[in-house]
Amino acid sequence: MLPRLEKAWSSVATGHSPVPFNAMHCPYCGAEDTRVVDSRPAEGGNTIRRRRECEVCRNRFTTYERREHALLVRKRDGSAEPFSSAKVVSGVNQAMVGREIAPGTLNRLARGVEAFAEEHGPEVSSSDIGHRVLEALRELDEVAYLRFASVHKEFEGAGDFEREVAALEDRT
Ligand SMILES: [Zn+2]
Repeated sequence: MLPRLEKAWSSVATGHSPVPFNAMHCPYCGAEDTRVVDSRPAEGGNTIRRRRECEVCRNRFTTYERREHALLVRKRDGSAEPFSSAKVVSGVNQAMVGREIAPGTLNRLARGVEAFAEEHGPEVSSSDIGHRVLEALRELDEVAYLRFASVHKEFEGAGDFEREVAALEDRT
């Protein structure tokens, strides 16, 4: 795990925890080396639920980690707003109008973008978010990809956009 991420989150262990919980000590043997095996947002995204495995005794336990600082998206005009995965979903939804999409795909995409934001947070730029969405869309649906790119103006200029279109055409 990135040190930056550890700093941005404060953690509370649940379950059997005989020791005070400053670092991610294993609640069974007290070892400090634990590995995250699964992470998912809980309580509407303010908390993250992690399954961890102790590298020493191999027991698994659950932590609920609360974000100390809001995950912020810095916009081009300099203002900031809290990260919203609902916003990612609605933006992608607009680009997906009329396109075939497998159930669950959008939520998976939004979770991926949120994980990216957490990894690079506590503050990320809206253009980094946009580029991450574009990366995901490029694999998913080329029409939606181009729509999203043009609507959200994530490219610096028309030249970039044309290069992207040309790159897509080269692939087919
Ligand atoms: Zn252990």
